[in-house]
Amino acid sequence: MSCLFCRIIAGEVPGTFLYQDDRLVVLQDVNPQAPLHALVIPRRHIATLNDLGPEDDGLVGEMVRRAAIVAREQGVAESGFRAVLNCNREAGQTVFHIHLHLIGGRPMAWPPG
Ligand code: AMP
Ligand code: ZN
Repeated sequence: MSCLFCRIIAGEVPGTFLYQDDRLVVLQDVNPQAPLHALVIPRRHIATLNDLGPEDDGLVGEMVRRAAIVAREQGVAESGFRAVLNCNREAGQTVFHIHLHLIGGRPMAWPPG
């Protein structure tokens, strides 16, 4: 298995999990860009947002809602947080297994770089 996130989810590579269920995990980012930087990752391997089908609508909804729950648990729900999905190289995607970045705990600029 060559996918880094599949290997972390399988326990072959270490990771710090903030949440896990049968459909998704929330992993602490190893190179945090803010005081809170976690990744909401589906257990099933989906390479990019371009590979989503209509059958994944529920899964994507769970990812977004889980991000909001973890943001609340981590104390940034009211101050604010960002939920980011990068698709392909120009957008900065480096791990080709979809993941939602949950970033918070500091003010952020717009537009993103
Ligand atoms: P992206 O660039 O959108 O594909 O995001 C990939 C994210 O995965 C980056 O924020 C990396 O810091 C993070 N990352 C890479 N390797 C690991 C790892 N072993 N454990 C946790 N996060 C990782
Ligand atoms: Zn994968």
